[in-house]
Amino acid sequence: MSAQDKLSGLSSKPTLAVHKFSSCDGCQLAFINDGVKLLKLSELVEIRHFAEAGPVDENCKVDIAIIEGSINTQHDVHRIQRIRDNSRYLIAMGACATSGGIQALRNNTNKAEFKEWIKEVYPQHTDVIAKEELDTVKAIEDYVEVDFEVRGCPVSGEQMYHMVRQLLFKVESESIVDPVCTSCKHRGITCVIVAYNEPCLGPVTADGCDALCPKINRGCYGCYGVSKYANFDAMTAKLKSMGLTDEQIARKYHFINNQQQGFKQAGDKQ
Ligand code: SF4
Ligand code: SF4
Ligand code: SF4
Repeated sequence: MSAQDKLSGLSSKPTLAVHKFSSCDGCQLAFINDGVKLLKLSELVEIRHFAEAGPVDENCKVDIAIIEGSINTQHDVHRIQRIRDNSRYLIAMGACATSGGIQALRNNTNKAEFKEWIKEVYPQHTDVIAKEELDTVKAIEDYVEVDFEVRGCPVSGEQMYHMVRQLLFKVESESIVDPVCTSCKHRGITCVIVAYNEPCLGPVTADGCDALCPKINRGCYGCYGVSKYANFDAMTAKLKSMGLTDEQIARKYHFINNQQQGFKQAGDKQ
């Protein structure tokens, strides 16, 4: 059954849970910090589990489950399967949940190197972590069916409120395919590449943030994921012409969405 086919029969006040996996909590905090949107959301749904904000009921059955974070351990695998069984719709929130996030950078290292890092960062818990950690960090959709994705690092309260409203009012969710450059042009934002020789991944990144970074004269680092029209060869050639080394370019691609096809392939090529 498609996600849109499931858009029927929700109760007048559907229930919602927000679950955390491996993540920095930034998406949940972005949601909480936008207090107005959270209050509006609580008028539309009954929040049953949202540990960061108050209610705790990890095993509750809900209409909508929102997931922050990626899958790192065997315990995570069992949890996400249980949450999927307990929920009607599942929304992956943010880059960690949709593509593995920063923690998936360890997928690019070998096991011995990773063990050394663990020893340095968590000297007291080395054995436990070595036993629990899966070989690779993966996105939520690699383990369970995901009905909707909200991209960004972090997402905004507005995005989450918008997504839940679309669901409740049975509106087909739109996917943004244009690159961030489109917003710069529409809003008359000065291009940071042209004006300041500042590297910017806007030409290969999906729009949806209203060019938040270029607005403050900062280059885009690709947090909304790959644009449908991305031309990585042209992007790489531009970054090289600006003086970036192959390693610097690879690091730019292997960042927030390092496991997403497009960024991963372009980074691996350098
Ligand atoms: S997507 Fe970014 S802000 Fe959200 S939890 Fe992951 S690292 Fe934090
Ligand atoms: S600042 Fe970045 S996103 Fe904006 S037009 Fe220039 S390259 Fe594109
Ligand atoms: S400009 Fe790029 S990095 Fe900045 S918020 Fe938008 S998509 Fe994310």
